[in-house]
Amino acid sequence: MYLQRKLNDKLVLYKGLRFGYKTTQKTKFTHKVTVGIGGNIGDVKRRFEHLFYFLKKSKKVEVLQTSSILKNPPFGFREQDDFFNALVVLKTGMTPMQMLKYLQMVEKKFGRKRSFANAPRSLDLDIIFFDNANINNKRLKVPHPHWRERESVLIPLMDLYR
Ligand code: AMP
Repeated sequence: MYLQRKLNDKLVLYKGLRFGYKTTQKTKFTHKVTVGIGGNIGDVKRRFEHLFYFLKKSKKVEVLQTSSILKNPPFGFREQDDFFNALVVLKTGMTPMQMLKYLQMVEKKFGRKRSFANAPRSLDLDIIFFDNANINNKRLKVPHPHWRERESVLIPLMDLYR
């Protein structure tokens, strides 16, 4: 069950039990990671729910907070279904590179198939922020290079800190 809020004729925000969540428990890990999640194949909200439970059960991360889910039109290759995006704030003891590998393992588990840039995807996970780290190497760029330009990041971010 989600509460829906239409932001304009293109954007819809969905708030539920798992998205729009904040823990009240103390966390044990030191690093704070903001992860962008997205997808546009099949029942994406349902997949996000499964992801939430997967992360909650994982020994490698703790779920601190989640944003509401934003439905938004695709950019790049436009002949595809609308995207759903949200942010998940995690605590972890992993390094940024370990975190990237972990997220790629989770993407695989949730059936991501890579085809071409901006192609439809079942689950895309990006590191948006990792503490205050600035990382710029071949495999990892943090903060995520496009976070300031994307509604799919900015609107969930405002939702987290409202
Ligand atoms: P994409 O297909 O858009 O998800 O891009 C995946 C590739 O982006 C991976 O090979 C990563 O090595 C690279 N990458 C660079 N920076 C990041 C980041 N902050 N989060 C996730 N992947 C990243």
